[in-house]
Amino acid sequence: MSYLKEKGRIFNIQRFSIHDGPGIRTIVFFKGCYMRCAWCCNPESQEYEIQTMIEGGKEKTVGRDVSVEEILPEILADEPYYRRSGGGLTLSGGEILGQPRFAAALLRAAQENGLHTAVESSAFAPFEKIQEILPYLDLYLMDIKHMDSKKHKEYTGAPNELILENAKKIAERGVELIIRTPVVPTVNDTAEDIRAISRFAASIGAKEYHLLPYHRLGSDKYIGLGRRYSLPEILPPPAERMQYLLAVAEESGIKCQIGG
Ligand code: SF4
Repeated sequence: MSYLKEKGRIFNIQRFSIHDGPGIRTIVFFKGCYMRCAWCCNPESQEYEIQTMIEGGKEKTVGRDVSVEEILPEILADEPYYRRSGGGLTLSGGEILGQPRFAAALLRAAQENGLHTAVESSAFAPFEKIQEILPYLDLYLMDIKHMDSKKHKEYTGAPNELILENAKKIAERGVELIIRTPVVPTVNDTAEDIRAISRFAASIGAKEYHLLPYHRLGSDKYIGLGRRYSLPEILPPPAERMQYLLAVAEESGIKCQIGG
């Protein structure tokens, strides 16, 4: 079977994004995730099953099965913008490693059409799944949410040992790696928390470290899914706090920025 026939389950395609990789990008959001981060702004991504969500008072189906060849024209439609801006395709989720063959096929199709390719992934999966996508990948954007495995598990549902091990292996393979931390007050916003992650990122040879301020944009979606948002009392970190944490991270000697 041609790789173009490979099928996967997605829940959104977002065009003209200026986040999650360089330049102007199209982002394909995969359905299904291994983790359950308390602050997740895409709760409709977590279940692999196709769901119904209430949005703006109306029922909306979340999730559809598509092949690479079905969605490739939509991705390639913005090729002139990618070329001018150095952009391309980013796969996000959910967790793209839940569907590694589909992810690899999409990345391959993008690369064969001359597009820059990136994934946004927690890397919480056996390394064999990551190896499937690496040949077609220019940039790995990886979240590290906490260096303390117990706290990582408390807030995401998963320990961090496998993630840290995979981060080292990805960097060793020479793939451009950017480590990112969603900075969530009371969860991982102390100088010690950020210093530990930025030092780790620098030690494995990551290219950059990005601090992403926590936001509450996805909280209404929990209501639409009949769920409760588990961090109702947490507010986004003030800009001064982010600047302070940026300075802390920069002490590790890695190129840092706020936002991604
Ligand atoms: S890894 Fe990402 S998609 Fe999965 S639960 Fe956490 S924030 Fe949500």
